Amino acid sequence: MQDASPSLDQIRRAPKVLLHDHLDGGLRPETVVELAVEQGYRGLPSLDAAELAAWFVADTPRRDLVRYLEGFTHTVALMQHTTALRRVAAECVEDLATDGVVYAEVRFAPELHTERGLDLDEIVEAVLAGFADGMATAATKGRLIVVRALLTAMRTAARSLEIAELAVRHRDVGVAGFDVAGPEAGYPPTRHLDAFQHVQRENFHATLHAGEAFGLPSIWQALQWCNAERLGHGVRLIDDVTVHEDGTVSLGRLAAYVRDRRIPLELCPTSNVHTGVAASLDQHPIALFRRLNFRTTINTDNRLMSGVTLSSEMARCAEAFGWGWSDLRWLSINAMKSAFYPFDDRLALINGVIKPGYEALEAESAFRVSRHLPAPRGTAAADG
Ligand SMILES: [Zn+2]
Repeated sequence: MQDASPSLDQIRRAPKVLLHDHLDGGLRPETVVELAVEQGYRGLPSLDAAELAAWFVADTPRRDLVRYLEGFTHTVALMQHTTALRRVAAECVEDLATDGVVYAEVRFAPELHTERGLDLDEIVEAVLAGFADGMATAATKGRLIVVRALLTAMRTAARSLEIAELAVRHRDVGVAGFDVAGPEAGYPPTRHLDAFQHVQRENFHATLHAGEAFGLPSIWQALQWCNAERLGHGVRLIDDVTVHEDGTVSLGRLAAYVRDRRIPLELCPTSNVHTGVAASLDQHPIALFRRLNFRTTINTDNRLMSGVTLSSEMARCAEAFGWGWSDLRWLSINAMKSAFYPFDDRLALINGVIKPGYEALEAESAFRVSRHLPAPRGTAAADG
C-alpha cells in the first residue's frame, strides 16, 4: 500500500493519544476572557479573544522559558474557583475529542489553585468532575474519549509528598499518576525523592519533567533515583546520541538504557521551539528518536501557549520529516502502550480503535492516490 502523505484534516480524524498536556496551558481564549470578566480580573493584556490568543502564543523562536511561563500567571489566576476549574477541565476534554484524541492524560498542579482558599482535594474533585462532564458531552456527539489526570508537584516548592499522597488518594476515581514540573536548573528531581518513593511503595505511576531545559544528569536522576516510568520531554537525551559523519549513530550508556528499556519520551516539538530548547521544528530531535526506534510519543504540552493541537503537531512533523501514516500510527500506539491505564484497556483501545482507525485512513489515502484525487479538505469539523 502506498503511504500517501496525511493531510491535517485526515489527521484530525485519526485516533490519537496524548500523554503530555497541561490543563492551565490549554484554555480556550474565549474562556479566559469570560472568566476574567466574571471574576473582575484586570490583568489580561486584552479582552478580545483573538488578540489574546495571539498574545498567548509565544511564537518567537528561542524565546526564553521565563517569558513563555508568563501566560500561566493569567490562566492560573483565573482557575481558583471550583466552577472555573470544572469548566476548564470539561472544555479541555471537548476540545481534545473534537481533535480526534481518544485517550489523554492531562496534568495540573493542585498547589497552584489554592490562592482563594480551595483545598487540594476540592481542586482535584472539581477537575475530575469537569473531565467527566467533558467525556459525557463528547459521547453525545458520538466521540468516545477517555481522559485521566496526572497530578503535578512544583519542583521549586516543598509539597511533592503531599501531592503524591493526593494522587494516590484519587487513583480509583480518575487520577492516573504523579509528575514533577518547573525549572530544572538548581532543582534536581532528587529533592523530591520521598514523593517518588511513596508513589513506588503504593504501586502507582510517575512521570517526571526532565531533560527539557537541562541535560543528562536530570534524566539520569529521574530514572535511576526517582524511578520515573516516562520522561516528560526527555529531549536533551539527544546529548547522549552521536551522529557520525558517515551517518551511523552511536548511543551513550544512558541513551542506550532508555531505548533498551523502552522508556517513553513525551516529546513536545513546537513547545521546545518556543522555549528555545530546539532551534527549529525541522531540527527537532524527534525525527532521530523516531528513526532510532526510541519509545517516541508526540505531545502538545500547552495548546494555548503554543497555538497547537495534537493533530497540527503531527501534521507539522509529517511535513517536516516526511512522515506517513505508518509513522503516525506508530506514535499513537507507542503512546497508548505507555499510558498509565490498565493493560486490558490499553489493548482494547489499540486493537479496537487505533489500529482500525489508521487502517481506514491509510486505505482512503491509498485509494485517493490511485485515483489521483486530492485529500479531503474541511470535513473534520463537520462530524462534530
Ligand atoms: Zn510539560
